[in-house]
Amino acid sequence: MAEAALSSLRNLPSVDRVLRQPDIMALVEKHGRSETTLAIRETLAALREEMQPGTGVDDAVIVASVLSRLDARADKRLRPLYNLTGTVLHTNLGRAILAEEAVEAASAAMRQAVSLEFDLASGKRGERDDHVRSLICELTGAEDATLVNNNAAAVLLVLNTLAQGREAIVSRGELIEIGGAFRMPEIMARAGAILREIGTTNRTHARDYANALGSETGLILKVHTSNYRIEGFTAEVDARELAKIAHQHKVPLVNDLGSGTLIDLSRFGLRKEPTVREAVEEGADLITFSGDKLLGGPQAGFIVGRKDLIAAINHNPMKRALRVDKIRLAACEATLKLYRDPDRLAQRLPTMRFLARQVDDIRQMALRLAPVLNEVLGRGVAVEAAACASQIGSGALPLDTIPSFGLSLRPTGGGRAVEALSAAFRGLPWPVIGRVTEGALHFDLRCLEDEGAFRDNLSSLRFEAAS
Ligand SMILES: *Cc1c(COP(=O)(O)O)cnc(C)c1O
Repeated sequence: MAEAALSSLRNLPSVDRVLRQPDIMALVEKHGRSETTLAIRETLAALREEMQPGTGVDDAVIVASVLSRLDARADKRLRPLYNLTGTVLHTNLGRAILAEEAVEAASAAMRQAVSLEFDLASGKRGERDDHVRSLICELTGAEDATLVNNNAAAVLLVLNTLAQGREAIVSRGELIEIGGAFRMPEIMARAGAILREIGTTNRTHARDYANALGSETGLILKVHTSNYRIEGFTAEVDARELAKIAHQHKVPLVNDLGSGTLIDLSRFGLRKEPTVREAVEEGADLITFSGDKLLGGPQAGFIVGRKDLIAAINHNPMKRALRVDKIRLAACEATLKLYRDPDRLAQRLPTMRFLARQVDDIRQMALRLAPVLNEVLGRGVAVEAAACASQIGSGALPLDTIPSFGLSLRPTGGGRAVEALSAAFRGLPWPVIGRVTEGALHFDLRCLEDEGAFRDNLSSLRFEAAS
């Protein structure tokens, strides 16, 4: 019927009539009635706005528009992608990639009931932390340990437990901002602690700590200034000496390590970051560090140290609000277990595998992929395999770079072409994220492992270089 095929402005079909169309009924099957109805309403409203008086609209146009609206709504916003930025632990791209062992443990915990707070030996109620406590103690030499949502939560909880309404002494050189809203003075205020800043930006001495200690002191906080470095005329008090000062005055020393690694990174040719075990040996009473930075596990905040202080933390009602769920707990346990065999860590833990990867291996990959990209992009883009430098990211060793290799894509047209090129790679089924500098798009291949999948993905690339 002509009337059914061509709806004029006056008689745009009703929602019900559209719903009865066979093509639409198939969409209801896939997306559900309410999603489909919503898409139809939006489509009809948009057409009513756009249509010129007296013109009509083909039913096929309505169906196509409903379909594209449904597809857009079903599109995942949180999508897997290739991190070729050169920053291995990229906070905006989700930091550490989990080991297979951790992924399996996490998905098992999602599918089945688990002994989360249940002691299988006695059949009685157990402790959520028990699953990782002994492992963390074994790997760090600490007396006791607990786990919260992230390191920011760990710092907040420690400050609130030990220094609410009391002073927390910190060197002015360590009052850092980590990014986003994590600024040490603000976290302190929210924890109810009174910030007692001492020393100067570049130099803080033992006597500055000693002079500030008093009846109001709740703790001394040492912060690993992971994301910046002060150079030149500087002085800080090392943790061992600081522990002595703290203990003479019977106050705890808390060391926020930030990234906190469990092994000496120099075995992978990287500069040494302080390990958690060393921080324990230096005498800090509590140490906090992240799960998804150098440790290579899921997002989590570890608090390790003195048994009595961990007990106080576990009695703080805030602990309940900051605790981790069974999925991450399972992933943490599996990740930590890998550290029992440090020799194979560089194969099994993706973060270490990426950081330890030999530059020649990366270079070979770049040399293989350069002609592939050249072919895909055609004449308008100059593709070159080139040396580059990776960094760890997430504040670890910010000034140190690791020699790496990658691809440099330079549109010959200049202008804004590099933005369009970068957008084209972001638009792939598996978006490819690089870095744009000086008119070129750079891909650092350090974190690329599945070369075949990467090539397949490129077949969807649409980029027309301006001539
Ligand atoms: C990264 C960092 C934090 C915050 O850790 P999250 O795991 O991101 O919450 C706190 N302190 C230091 C020194 C850090 O480097």
